[in-house]
Amino acid sequence: MSNNTHSFKDRVVVITGAGGGLGKVYALEYAKRGAKVVVNDLGGSLKGAGHDARAADLVVQEIQKSNGIAVANYDSVTDNAGNIIKTAIDNFGRVDILINNAGILRDVSISKMSPQEFQSVIDVHLNGAFKITRAAWPYMRQQNFGRIINTCSPAGLFGNFGQANYSAAKLGLVGFAETLAKEGHRYNIFVNSIAPLARSRMTENVLPPHILKQLGPEKIVPLVLHLTHEQTKVTNSIFELAAGFYGQIRWERSSGQIFNPTNPASFTPEAILAKWKAITDYKDKDFNTTQHPVQLADYNDLTEKAKKL
Ligand code: NAD
Repeated sequence: MSNNTHSFKDRVVVITGAGGGLGKVYALEYAKRGAKVVVNDLGGSLKGAGHDARAADLVVQEIQKSNGIAVANYDSVTDNAGNIIKTAIDNFGRVDILINNAGILRDVSISKMSPQEFQSVIDVHLNGAFKITRAAWPYMRQQNFGRIINTCSPAGLFGNFGQANYSAAKLGLVGFAETLAKEGHRYNIFVNSIAPLARSRMTENVLPPHILKQLGPEKIVPLVLHLTHEQTKVTNSIFELAAGFYGQIRWERSSGQIFNPTNPASFTPEAILAKWKAITDYKDKDFNTTQHPVQLADYNDLTEKAKKL
């Protein structure tokens, strides 16, 4: 990059699951741009079994070989998330950026999914992100600076066969991010979600080679770095990205239909059916916001409006 405005000099970045795949390419680029990086990885299998310190160690070595600054941490986000943040504090004195990236898969259709298969995926992605964010939050709040990325997935936004556990965890991360964005805003803590698609051990056996060829993980890096830079004021947003495409996803409410709230006879199942077209119509732009319509209008005003219907 000729005009390199996105320096991360002296920023402390914690990346969970950074021993391979996306987390690794984030770690290398943050370090290249001057950040001090905590490379966390349990080093387990795709299903989350076992552990191996080499995953995080190799990434740290690669960073250090290029004169970057990094330290390894081998804790699981499920059991010892506090220690991952402690690694940042003990080695670098602060934590500025948290990338919630660690993940596993236990793909199986819902009729065959055991409670353990559901729970273990929720535990790593969603509960793990909660635990480490909870540990980082007081530091970010106190220093009046924080940037957090939650890693969602197209499977979370749109669903995917065999991934009921994963989809639930991933959309849970979006809701989690949206509330953190609201709670963090006044402390300059900005939180966003990404739904990437990239070549990694997660996708190499499910996508055809000619597609995988386009999906270099390095194509996910620029948006993550941009969203976590101190200049960035973007928060509470969801981005979808893959193969060099970068776009934003938003919730959109239909125009909807108001029924007279003072007359129970007006909101029957039959009345819903009769007004189905209006309920599901998106043409009224005023209502297509993320605020609830009852918050938008004064409730009395809404009642008055409804009485006229
Ligand atoms: P990956 O398997 O290469 O990376 C995940 C890493 O998380 C692994 O290195 C693994 O050891 C680590 N990990 C697993 N459980 C852990 C735990 N309890 N504690 C600490 N580390 C743990 O896969 P990836 O594709 O790089 O995935 C990174 C993130 O991106 C995941 O959250 C994944 O769900 C998400 N994602 C990936 C894609 C894609 O196309 N690759 C698509 C959507 C979402």
